[in-house]
Amino acid sequence: MSITENFHKIKSSLPKDVTLVAVSKTHPSEIIQEIYDEGQRVFGENKVQELVEKQEILPKDIEWHLIGHLQTNKVKYIAAFVDTIQSVDSEKILKEINKEAAKNNRKIKILLQVKIAEEDSKYGLTLDEAKILFTEIINNKYSFVAFSGLMGMATFTDDTQQLKQEFSVLQNLFNDLNLNKTEHTLSMGMSGDYETAIECGANSVRVGSAIFGSR
Ligand SMILES: *Cc1c(COP(=O)(O)O)cnc(C)c1O
Repeated sequence: MSITENFHKIKSSLPKDVTLVAVSKTHPSEIIQEIYDEGQRVFGENKVQELVEKQEILPKDIEWHLIGHLQTNKVKYIAAFVDTIQSVDSEKILKEINKEAAKNNRKIKILLQVKIAEEDSKYGLTLDEAKILFTEIINNKYSFVAFSGLMGMATFTDDTQQLKQEFSVLQNLFNDLNLNKTEHTLSMGMSGDYETAIECGANSVRVGSAIFGSR
């Protein structure tokens, strides 16, 4: 199947209230433009330099999501245009985002990334850390940051039971924080596990290789 066909197949299989973030990392701008021309507006990238280069050439109404670990010294390059930073995994990065958003006189939407996978290579806050930062944000400690929801990455596995268990941890936190799906994002699921993630409550999925092919 072509990339366009992959895109339409996945897009039409998603429930209406689930947002598709098309993860275009490593793929060239011409390919992103093809999917844009099919109507997609939300794209995810994991590297700052690549995101900046693509943002410069591609249409300005794209909603760019940064989904990879972000270093504090790089926030300044994306603060003027990024729609959502999904990978907020420390207080330090949150402070820096707030500072750079203030310089640009805009609010940046953020998701708190929580570690739900069992493997320890993945970034993310513990449940307690996430609760603390959430409380700080809603108490206006970061006035140029808009709390938008939670993000998590499950273990890379075919074991559906394990996936469900890991996704449920994030869904439970979402409920504990009294978040709701009309206002807030629960970003879980990638090419291999987005269907399971949706069963477990995700209202936003980050799909790369199932649309664009392998990297
Ligand atoms: C690369 C990436 C994805 C997409 O992965 P695929 O398996 O290609 O769909 C989703 N989320 C994050 C955080 C990523 O880095």
